[in-house]
Amino acid sequence: MLLDVHVHLFPPAVVERIEKYLVKDEFLAQICSSPRQKYASAEDLLAEMDKCGVDKAVISGFASSDQGLCREMNDYVLDAARANPQKLMPMAVVYPLDPGMEKEIQRCHEAGAVGVGELFPWGQKFDLEGREAGKLASICQQRNLPLLLHINEIVGHYYAGKGDVSIKEAANFAAKYPELTLIYAHWGGGLLFYELMPELKEQLQNVYYDTAASPFLYHKNIYRVAREIGILHKVLFATDYPLLSPRRYLRELEEAGLTDHELAMIKGENAAKLFLASRRP
Ligand SMILES: [Zn+2]
Repeated sequence: MLLDVHVHLFPPAVVERIEKYLVKDEFLAQICSSPRQKYASAEDLLAEMDKCGVDKAVISGFASSDQGLCREMNDYVLDAARANPQKLMPMAVVYPLDPGMEKEIQRCHEAGAVGVGELFPWGQKFDLEGREAGKLASICQQRNLPLLLHINEIVGHYYAGKGDVSIKEAANFAAKYPELTLIYAHWGGGLLFYELMPELKEQLQNVYYDTAASPFLYHKNIYRVAREIGILHKVLFATDYPLLSPRRYLRELEEAGLTDHELAMIKGENAAKLFLASRRP
């Protein structure tokens, strides 16, 4: 089974009037003006999944600081998942500083959402040490919904969306909410390497790492390094489609020097434990 846990869909109706949002939302404007930015509809994704042999995908809209827009994104992914229940699983995007956050998570959960994210602590300007992030953590925890957060390296090349929320905040957040299932995107901005520290390994027990954008960020040896660190059971296949095609990742995985069993864990077995267990409200 091949399960992609990190895909972004943009409702075609939003793409049509995207300019309207870009003047209001600095972060969205930054992302959408990137030369790498592409917009994918549910149909685009399903065609790509068929082409690349992806069985299931966890789909998100794109989180912003506009709760109305988040809601529209959520409606689109919820509908897409309802129409393709064997293939698509929806996640909810929210603006944690909006007073309606909890209601929106509840609405989406009741409509079939299997998690919350991808959220951008830097881009959406919410502090992982703040009150709103605490509220978000407890809502997700109570509902047993994994929370997918964008975390990036604080070193290395710049890309649109790269912020300065560091692995320090990410590690502290995980330590503060040990019962919360966290998925840190993009290998957690390198947080995985600190699992070599026994106390961090303990504190990060419920942190999963997704591989989104890995070909842009790391040498494919990172998969073997993850095995050496002893965290392969927490690595989740993720493409950040439409940023990159699943093909790029599959090629790297093939050359990564892992056993068939280890590949199966990354490609879907780990994620199945998070997303295919019942998470009904
Ligand atoms: Zn991201």
